[in-house]
Amino acid sequence: MEWTAEDMEKRKKLAYHYSQILELLGEDTSREGLLRTPDRVAKAMMFLTKGYRQEPDQILSSAIFIEDYKQMVIVKNIDFFSLCEHHLLPFFGKAHIAYIPNNAVTGLSKIPRIVDVFARRLQIQERMTTQIKDCIQKTLNPLGVMVIIEAQHLCMQMRGVEKQNSITTTSDFTGAFNQAKTREEFINLIRS
Ligand SMILES: [Zn+2]
Repeated sequence: MEWTAEDMEKRKKLAYHYSQILELLGEDTSREGLLRTPDRVAKAMMFLTKGYRQEPDQILSSAIFIEDYKQMVIVKNIDFFSLCEHHLLPFFGKAHIAYIPNNAVTGLSKIPRIVDVFARRLQIQERMTTQIKDCIQKTLNPLGVMVIIEAQHLCMQMRGVEKQNSITTTSDFTGAFNQAKTREEFINLIRS
């Protein structure tokens, strides 16, 4: 990512606060292994939240092509990494997205990119699912869109609240996906 003067100023402030946090946690911030940690964490956190400074609608609208194709378009197994807004711990997994074009398709690489934009914000899985669906519906105006997200949440796994390896699945859809048959077709295609 490119660092503007404003970004560098923020990074400095974040590093200062992370240094305070380490002290509050009982650490000695002057020991060698931790000397650059506050700045590294600041830099990492700014990267992991860069989605706030990106416009997913613009990314999709920048590559719309008129095409008389009315079958399902599926992009499956999109890896993503996000941070839960309740614990600032990672949740990560795969997103599967299908839409049925209504004379407009988008460049296939744009779909994973918008997943990335929404993932690189503080999130909850449910909201992220709906935001991706809304973004595609709004910009491409398809006959229907469906988003399925499967994720593991470290805030559950590391804190032992739930069984290890449990996977949370969320889904949301519009239009043609209101029909069970259409949803089944999508689900069969992502399982195959
Ligand atoms: Zn959490």
